[in-house]
Amino acid sequence: MPTVAAFAAPSSSDPLLRTTIERRETGPHDVLIAIRYAGICHSDIHLVRGDWGPVTYPQVVGHEIAGEVVEVGSEVTDFAVGDRVGVGCMVNSCRECENCLAGMENYCLKGNTQTYGSIDRDGTVTQGGYSTHVVVDKDFVLRIPEGIPYESVAPLLCAGITTYSPLAHWKVGPGSKVAVVGMGGLGHLAVKIAAAMGAEVTVLSQSLSKQEDGKRFGATHYFATSDESTFDTLANTFDLIVNTVSAPLKLDSYLRLLRLDGTMVNVGAPPEPLPLRVFTLFGNRRSFAGSSIGSIAETQEMLDFCAEHGIVPETELIGVDEVNDAYERVLRSDVRYRFVIDIETLRD
Ligand code: NAP
Ligand code: ZN
Ligand code: ZN
Repeated sequence: MPTVAAFAAPSSSDPLLRTTIERRETGPHDVLIAIRYAGICHSDIHLVRGDWGPVTYPQVVGHEIAGEVVEVGSEVTDFAVGDRVGVGCMVNSCRECENCLAGMENYCLKGNTQTYGSIDRDGTVTQGGYSTHVVVDKDFVLRIPEGIPYESVAPLLCAGITTYSPLAHWKVGPGSKVAVVGMGGLGHLAVKIAAAMGAEVTVLSQSLSKQEDGKRFGATHYFATSDESTFDTLANTFDLIVNTVSAPLKLDSYLRLLRLDGTMVNVGAPPEPLPLRVFTLFGNRRSFAGSSIGSIAETQEMLDFCAEHGIVPETELIGVDEVNDAYERVLRSDVRYRFVIDIETLRD
């Protein structure tokens, strides 16, 4: 089995460190990818810190992967050596349940195989993108369109699809009023994508400190949620609220901002249960929903949409030894707007 360099969490509390891991041999349906860039998603931090439950350490995270094909299996005809490719949050699914057959393997009823922290078919725990190479079934590999800069594309593989999917599902377009709560990695892409779909976009951030950026990304309005009057000013306004916040929020305050038949969709994943008053849903026939990444087909659609509309994630490129500091900055909401690891620094 090939041994490759990686940057792994040894426990829930110790810093991530350089190590090596084993990757499987490239099977007939597999693609071996040399990873060039890996985005840092807040989910990486939730998982390694044990927020979502027990973890088998050491664990390599990272599910925003951009790299190039260096080897293809004997039965792979749709990818060739040298292709620029991406891998997102999942690397397999059961392929036979109702949801998989409907092309929505992100909602696989047996649970899709996540890029990290899942039990793979061979019984090993999957290891993510903070490493130099990964072997992935070709059906879970994405094509990176020309026109999106290589060093900036990785965040689309999770943050991009996670926000694109609900915006597309709830048919956001010209005339839609969309609010994005939290302008971090997911949030800044939600603003860009919703604006490109033609919506009037409002950002609800903890403060006004990133207002200029929000407007540059395509928002028309920008409000601070630390100011209580925001919730009076915006009552009964939005068709769709996309909540990207990684911590619990007072849901009722936000639900009241929905107009008739409006929906608040939660993509933020705090571990705690969130209470809400059903009476808040009765008013304006409001809905509260969740959404999990997107299918492989929809991820390709999103990449092509971003290429067509010139949507590029705002990234800060870092070396692998800066990852632990970057985690602290993400936790302080001090991210502009996605850290991307230059995986060359792991080859040194
Ligand atoms: P992020 O870059 O840290 O952004 C989260 C933003 O939420 C922050 O930038 C901040 O925005 C706001 N925020 C943070 N703490 C807050 C608090 N205590 N109160 C109010 N606002 C707060 O994280 P991310 O990578 O975008 O991920 C966001 C969440 O989505 C995480 O929980 C992640 O696990 C989850 N996620 C879910 C899916 C899915 O499929 N559903 C996929 C990917 C990620 P402001 O500074 O603008 O207030
Ligand atoms: Zn993610
Ligand atoms: Zn399935």
